[in-house]
Parts: sequence; C-alpha cells; structure tokens
Amino acid sequence: MLTGKTALVTGSTSGIGLGIARALAAQGANIVLNGFGDVDGPKAEIAALGVKVAYHAADMSKPAEIADMMAYAAAQFGRVDILVNNAGIQHVARIENFPIEKWDAIIAINMSSAFHATRLALPAMQAANGGKGWGRIINVASVHGLVGSAEKSAYVAAKHGIVGLTKVTALENATSGVTCNAICPGWVLTPLVQKQVDARAAAGGISNEAATAQLLGEKEPSLQFTTPEELGALAVFFCSPAGNNVRGVAWNMDGGWTAQ
Ligand code: NAD
Repeated sequence: MLTGKTALVTGSTSGIGLGIARALAAQGANIVLNGFGDVDGPKAEIAALGVKVAYHAADMSKPAEIADMMAYAAAQFGRVDILVNNAGIQHVARIENFPIEKWDAIIAINMSSAFHATRLALPAMQAANGGKGWGRIINVASVHGLVGSAEKSAYVAAKHGIVGLTKVTALENATSGVTCNAICPGWVLTPLVQKQVDARAAAGGISNEAATAQLLGEKEPSLQFTTPEELGALAVFFCSPAGNNVRGVAWNMDGGWTAQ
C-alpha cells in the first residue's frame, strides 16, 4: 500500500517509534530512522522487510539538526511523504521541584521538534500529486494531550500543545491531500514507562509485577498495555485511502483511560 513512499519517524530506535516504523515498512514504505542508542538492530530489522532504510542522528531538541535531518531525508529519497513526530522524553516531579532544564528539554523534544519537522516537511507534501498535495503527518501525543496527571507538568503541557498543533496543521491543509492527526496512547510498556515502573517499585519496596499492576490499575480500566504493534496499525490506517478525510483528530488508544 505504501510502496514508493518515504516515512520519517523521529525517535524510532526504540518503543512506539520503532513499532510505527516497522508497520509502515511492512506496507512497503522506505524509512528514515532517528533516535539514540542501538541503531544497527533497528536498521537491520527494517531492511529485512525489503524496504530502503536510512538513519539520521539529529537531536530533536536542536532545530538546526532537525533541518539537517529533513534535508538528508529529501536527498536520500526525494521527499518525505509521511512524517511521524514521535520522539519524546519524560520527567516526573511536582512543579515547585521541577528542574528548569528538564522543562526546557521536554518542551523542545516533545513539542517544538514537531513544529520544526512539520514546517520543513510541508512544502514538498503540498507540491506532491501534481500540486493537489499528498502527505501524512502523525503526531504521537498521549492521553496526556487530553487529560492531566500530577507531577507531569512539562509532559502534559507539551502533549496538549502537540494536540493543538495537530489541529492547526490539519486545518491549514484541509483542502489538500495532506492530513495531520494525533495518536494518544495510554500506557505502553517501553523503556520510557519501565523507568516509571522501576521508580514505583523502588519507592514502595514492591516487585516489578506489583508496581506494574498498580500503575495500570490507577488509570487504565483495561488493565492492559497498548502495544507498539497496535499503534503501528493505527498509523497505517491514517496513511491509507480510508484516512483521506480524517483530519485533526486526537485518537486515543488508551484502554478506556479518558472514557472515565
Ligand atoms: P522510548 O524511550 O522507548 O523511545 C523514545 C525514542 O525517542 C527513542 O528512540 C529515543 O532515542 C528517542 N529520543 C529521545 N530523546 C531524543 C532526542 N533528543 N532526539 C532524538 N531522539 C530522541 O519511549 P516511547 O514510550 O516509545 O515514547 C515514544 C513517544 O510516545 C513519546 O513521544 C512519548 O511521549 C509517547 N507516549 C508514550 C507512552 C508510553 O506509555 N510509553 C504513552 C503515550 C505517549
């Protein structure tokens, strides 16, 4: 379905980003990976799906590096057709104790990076398909783009911001073939969440299993994690012809978290 298209997924060396990159590659899209840590493993895994894969190490808190990455992707594949703004970090502390540098980093990586990548991706998407436009921008927000949780001020502010950015991007391109939507997961068991499970286990002197059950039990009625595979399938739907007129939604996949 996506053969000949190119998808750039930020923060795709791990977790949700890697799951979305895998799902798009399985549909035939060439992939530009980004993120820190092990790169060879994800690269080999995506290449094994029979698509072309490239990698750029841009630090998503740095606008100049984001510009380098977007230019690199265009040079490699001609154009970015699908942009998935996914890179993100977390820090948990009450507002009065929240380190200023953590606030700045979360706003930069979880929110402003999506603005920079989007503004650089849009002109080629708008010119595609003989000027009628074709493109998909998928912002990985969170249930925290829709509701708050204590001790996550920067994260909740950034995720609400990205839901707002999603709506404006969708509206500004509403008469073209360029759509923009947000995905709002509840808990997904990735390294980002495992750190929160570990902190809970350490603070309560409880096991990993007990801390996991507590974490899910507080917010997620299904008592189940959403998986990167499920989120990848939602991204594929947004990229499909059936997603042509889905514009500006914030689609939660959260086990009922925000239904309460
Ligand atoms: P993760 O830690 O597994 O992956 C984060 C990715 O972002 C990694 O590839 C990492 O290298 C990359 N990254 C971090 N800082 C970066 C930077 N400065 N520049 C470039 N890349 C950077 O986390 P995840 O859980 O897969 O999170 C992915 C996205 O999903 C985030 O935006 C997160 O807020 C969102 N999310 C996660 C959950 C969850 O429960 N895990 C729930 C809702 C939303």
